[in-house]
Amino acid sequence: MNHRTDPSPKRLLLVEDDQRISDFVSRGLRAEGYSVEVVATGREGLLLAEDGGFNLIILDIGLPDIKGQQIVERLRSDGSVMPILMLTARDALSDKVLGLRAGADDYMTKPFSFEELLARIGALLRRTEMDYQVDSTELKILDLVLDRESHDVRRGGKLIELTAKEFNLLEFFLQSKGKVLSRTRILEYVWGYSNDPLTNVVDVYIRQLRKKVDDGHRVKLIKTVRGFGYKLDETEEASFDGDGE
Ligand code: CA
Repeated sequence: MNHRTDPSPKRLLLVEDDQRISDFVSRGLRAEGYSVEVVATGREGLLLAEDGGFNLIILDIGLPDIKGQQIVERLRSDGSVMPILMLTARDALSDKVLGLRAGADDYMTKPFSFEELLARIGALLRRTEMDYQVDSTELKILDLVLDRESHDVRRGGKLIELTAKEFNLLEFFLQSKGKVLSRTRILEYVWGYSNDPLTNVVDVYIRQLRKKVDDGHRVKLIKTVRGFGYKLDETEEASFDGDGE
């Protein structure tokens, strides 16, 4: 556990109607130094989120009044860029896809482990902080560094040779750290296509990029998000369906 030494604690909003989960999560997060506001309905969640002032929202998809993905849609259409981490029921794949499509940044399947939740919150908050560092020509995650000016890419100090498309793909991942990217979005960004059915191209390039970036390294940075796409993050792969609460 990494205790936060930040003098001003990050404010998290937890919208969850299952009190067992919200008690467990909020207690754990407060122990980690976060300030946590808990509400049990979508209406309250939306009101608080729209009011702003939160660094991140943890949002249960299955709420009694408003569906989680509608809350995401509403916030995004109002221009909110606050990171949203969704909590979904096991195997509710369509919920995940709808939520991500609506603009959520990441999701966790119940039951989940608290350590995994903590790691994902940390990754999303770091990404947001990075967004404000506009001066740097370097994009980095863990020991991977991409220089936008020299076009040098290094992992652990070792130079990696990338093709132009692989470079663009990695740059897109680094700009969207911790965020789940669909094949369609990747295709649009890297190839400039929209509505192209050949999203298989993306998988081929991801495979090549993985070979160059992740092979031989303990932490695999490029993660597959089953049923949706890919994301870049520095957390170590852990089982969603493991010994969670
Ligand atoms: Ca629920």
